[in-house]
Amino acid sequence: MNDDEITRAVSQVLSKYTQGLSVCDGIFDSVEEAISAAARAKVQFHHCSMQDRNAFIRGLRELFSQEEVLNTLSRMAVEETGMGNCADKVIKNRVAALQTPGTEDLCTRAQSGDRGLTLMEFSAWGVIASITPTTNPTETIINNSISMLSAGNSIVFSPHPRSRNVSLHAIALINQKLAALGAPENLVVTVSQPSLDNTTALIADPRINMLVATGGPAIVKTVMASGKKAIGAGAGNPPVVVDETADIEKAARDIVNGCSFDNNLPCIAEKEVIVVSQVADYLIHCMKKSGAWLLSDKKQIQQLQTLVMNEQGSGPATAFVGKDARYILQQLGITTPEEVQVILLETDKSHPFVVHEMMMPVLPVVRAANVDEAIELAVEVEQGHRHTAIMHSTNIDKLSKMARQIQTTIFVKNGPSFAGIGVGGEGYTTFTIAGPTGEGLTSARSFTRCRRCVMVEALNIR
Ligand code: NAD
Repeated sequence: MNDDEITRAVSQVLSKYTQGLSVCDGIFDSVEEAISAAARAKVQFHHCSMQDRNAFIRGLRELFSQEEVLNTLSRMAVEETGMGNCADKVIKNRVAALQTPGTEDLCTRAQSGDRGLTLMEFSAWGVIASITPTTNPTETIINNSISMLSAGNSIVFSPHPRSRNVSLHAIALINQKLAALGAPENLVVTVSQPSLDNTTALIADPRINMLVATGGPAIVKTVMASGKKAIGAGAGNPPVVVDETADIEKAARDIVNGCSFDNNLPCIAEKEVIVVSQVADYLIHCMKKSGAWLLSDKKQIQQLQTLVMNEQGSGPATAFVGKDARYILQQLGITTPEEVQVILLETDKSHPFVVHEMMMPVLPVVRAANVDEAIELAVEVEQGHRHTAIMHSTNIDKLSKMARQIQTTIFVKNGPSFAGIGVGGEGYTTFTIAGPTGEGLTSARSFTRCRRCVMVEALNIR
């Protein structure tokens, strides 16, 4: 069997399997039933010890670091959504399992003095509705499950309908694992037919204490307008700036690797390059050597634009989101060598490829007269998302200037964008990066309430 045949076979089996998923897998027919079950589970979870909680989290890490599980989830996501690539999804799922912080993130603060001892502790919010995207379907479910359960919550997931099967499969695996570990039933649930109507019902239900939206601007706006505690992890349009002091060969490699990671689906991935003119030709030359295909023919660039933009020209055509560079070029009648991972083209700063979040490895390059102009341009095209930006430079002053001016949640210096979520860079992993509501790179603590516990005139032992 070749790779495609295996993918199809796995998908067929799993699609049949997800039809048969049931309540004991955390899959309910209605939102009402799902919320009731999660609400009951939350009450029981409250009686579990921290040792129990740690055991559940350890179990999930073990489950989702098994090669077979990672491969199945990743293949299934690619097959169902038609987006991204299996090898990179395996990496993303693995870091979600292993590098999402657990209960250690809930570090208690204490203050003691003559008047006693006060503790500040991070406590559960209750039942969380977590709305998840197509671009990182299982990565977000694994990551949020570890963070939210570590914080003591139960979860009702609302996956994107286009990633239903793989999301339900991941949720069923979580339930089976938690059941084997003796956890309360239904700590992590969802509905058998995810839909916008079901998400709307979930948001409105009074038993849901917190809303977490990981997705585009519409759903982030919806949860923020709900009147409930909401965490919004929204869209980005990460610019990468390259100045004349950078190691250009390395910058070229990093940009191609970052931009092509999971076919550019991650919200943190490089979406446009802004380069100081003095080194622009050399950067393009090096990027071509590192796996970029330069389109310089104006007619071809126009054809590409017509092909990959939606009819209104207001964003990408869904059919091309998360497709690989060679596939996109093939649709233009261009056959390329296997190593091609990114489509490069020179544009001005107002080109639709610069302005819109394309989520495919089509990378516009814009020239700037100098580094100050490049930084100014980067701030403009990031459009206030305050999400992610990247810079290649050895000039500390200019690196600091860009970080200060762009105000993004993630700022990667001299590396590929994915270093910002713990893939080859220091720091933990998250797939829920909350720019609009300010939690930043979420972890267990983001899904808690901070509570104070005061003992008067005792327990100060100094
Ligand atoms: P999407 O916004 O289409 O869908 C996200 C989720 O919201 C899905 O579950 C969808 O069903 C639901 N949804 C969307 N609009 C809704 C509405 N009006 N009412 C109810 N539910 C609604 O996003 P997508 O295409 O799956 O993911 C890509 C987008 O998400 C990109 O913009 C990307 O930058 C962003 N994203 C951000 C982060 C982050 O951490 N900041 C992570 C992943 C994806």
